[in-house]
Amino acid sequence: MNEELQHSLKALIRTIPDFPKPGIQFRDITTLFQDPWGFKRAVDELVAHYRYAPIDKVVAIESRGFVIGGALANYLNCGMVMARKKGKLPFQVERQEYQLEYGTDCIELHRDALVSGDRCLVVDDLLATGGTCEATCKLVERLAGRVVGCAFIIELPELKGRRRLAQYDVKALIRFDGE
Ligand code: AMP
Repeated sequence: MNEELQHSLKALIRTIPDFPKPGIQFRDITTLFQDPWGFKRAVDELVAHYRYAPIDKVVAIESRGFVIGGALANYLNCGMVMARKKGKLPFQVERQEYQLEYGTDCIELHRDALVSGDRCLVVDDLLATGGTCEATCKLVERLAGRVVGCAFIIELPELKGRRRLAQYDVKALIRFDGE
């Protein structure tokens, strides 16, 4: 992706200082989603990257990942699976806990969401420490799926999520580095 396009997409993301707690620079992607050009252009970039990749399912992470994952799955002609926070999925689930700065969180997939050997693209809006995506990848593998890649719109390189996801192919469109 050329620098001018990266710059234009980045300009559509709003930064909210100290949300949800002091010290966090929240990268608010709702302003990109609500811009017709920006949303389409960001999705088109990911579609172009994965168009020829063998993908059976997009596994989208709650909640902003659903927006990107739904559009992507539609373009790539594959199924869409929702990775949800605890207690939201109505059928039997597989669950994976992961570490937060303070305490733990967990992510769930329906047990029948994948068939053995499904090639999965895991999608979220933003890669920070990589904990959420790593937990989702573990769930995919526990359900006998294969992670073919992890896709994000935004990456925060200083939090080293890419290192945590070193065994996977990671794609992010834009970066916020100490800004
Ligand atoms: P992590 O597991 O640390 O990679 O965090 C990724 C998840 O938390 C994603 O679902 C993001 O939407 C959310 N997130 C983490 N940090 C931020 C941030 N600075 N701005 C917006 N969302 C964030």
